[in-house]
Amino acid sequence: MKTFHGGVHPHGHKDATAEKPIVTLAPPKELIFPLSQHIGAPAVPCVQAGDAVLMGQKIAEAGGFVSATLHSSVSGTVKGIEKRMHPNGTLTDCIIIENDGLDTPIPEVSLPERDFRKLSPKECIDLVQEAGIVGMGGAGFPTHVKLSPPPEATIDYVIVNGAECEPYLTSDYRVMLENSQELLTGLAIMMHIFDLSVGYIAIEDNKPKAIEAMKKAAAEFSGAEIRIVPLKTKYPQGSEKQLINAVTGRKLKPGALPWQAGCIVSNIDTVASIARAVVKHQPVIRRIVTLGGDAMKNPLNYSVRIGTPFSYIVEQSGGFAQPPKKFLMGGPMMGLALSSLDVPTIKSSSAILALSESSAKFEEESPCVRCAKCLYVCPMNLQPNLLDKAARNNDFEALEKLHISDCIECGSCAYICPAKRRQVQQIRVVKGKLRNAKAKGN
Ligand code: SF4
Ligand code: SF4
Repeated sequence: MKTFHGGVHPHGHKDATAEKPIVTLAPPKELIFPLSQHIGAPAVPCVQAGDAVLMGQKIAEAGGFVSATLHSSVSGTVKGIEKRMHPNGTLTDCIIIENDGLDTPIPEVSLPERDFRKLSPKECIDLVQEAGIVGMGGAGFPTHVKLSPPPEATIDYVIVNGAECEPYLTSDYRVMLENSQELLTGLAIMMHIFDLSVGYIAIEDNKPKAIEAMKKAAAEFSGAEIRIVPLKTKYPQGSEKQLINAVTGRKLKPGALPWQAGCIVSNIDTVASIARAVVKHQPVIRRIVTLGGDAMKNPLNYSVRIGTPFSYIVEQSGGFAQPPKKFLMGGPMMGLALSSLDVPTIKSSSAILALSESSAKFEEESPCVRCAKCLYVCPMNLQPNLLDKAARNNDFEALEKLHISDCIECGSCAYICPAKRRQVQQIRVVKGKLRNAKAKGN
């Protein structure tokens, strides 16, 4: 079975949601659209208070090439542009839209479906850009940028990341089971852009139904050869560098981007969005969100309109089974801890987790016992114990020598550490300090 060096085996916690079909959630009365829900420059509003908008209408232009457009996920009226809480914990500019409950769509969605094979690669990429597609696995990197490597790049592999190695998350799994044709079409479009004859969908072997379903769908799919690659179940199998290594055997040099290894990697929901944008004229206005955690009364996967508050989603699902102690957006390994559920669904909101006191218990750190377990599991061959020490001492020189920039913040080191050292948290904090120091020229 294909895999990578290092990694850990956290409990999957996927049983509560994996076999439940995706449920479509009706949108709330008010939706909130942060202008920054992607990596890069914030979007720039092209509507103002009082404007009527249609479902799918552009409400903000990309603020640069590395940025993404925003579209209203409902029809209604723009109430204003004001500061609201972002899932990342900052107050940020948001477009607020009052839903008229009619879901009146933009006229374009009624146009006949496009045959992407009659479009040039540039036309396909432009449609992806216009639709505001970003990495929906959590990274939020604008997809049109990923699809536009430098002219000297030779892309040999397009890999769809179906690993979904984060505990609790099952949204990609459900899309593979329920929406395989859209997924295959999205991959075929990416292969068309790079003029490739073979594309790959990589899936961990703890999802045998998805592997079978995708193999069957790929065999019946006409016009493109798509191979399903089973991978060993191991965290962080879905991380870009580890996935490329497992599928192709290629290794990215430190600091290198996937195109430098001849690869483009994209997430399941992102690839399905590419199909909807290019073929069906649909921008990104919804995403699949896993509701999970032992404090959640009815864990399930919802198809949610972008801009829907988390509090509304949880309330509509039936609330809590027991008092929640901790909320997360995304999985427990790489997700964001939330201070409140009064934040909107953004394009990269893969999950909302509510954990009880017993699941979220805080364990005190103790001194490093030099067991070297963190060194064995680090998928980037780093020395997390030394990075931890240097981070606590703000020893920037040592951190550079220890290749801190190669850390993918997967958390495998903190997960395995018997002394409960929080290496990854220290690394994240000190990376911010390093960025600030560099920005000041120190
Ligand atoms: S040092 Fe970074 S890359 Fe290595 S295990 Fe820890 S978080 Fe992951
Ligand atoms: S796993 Fe923890 S205790 Fe063991 S060497 Fe690493 S930091 Fe030290």
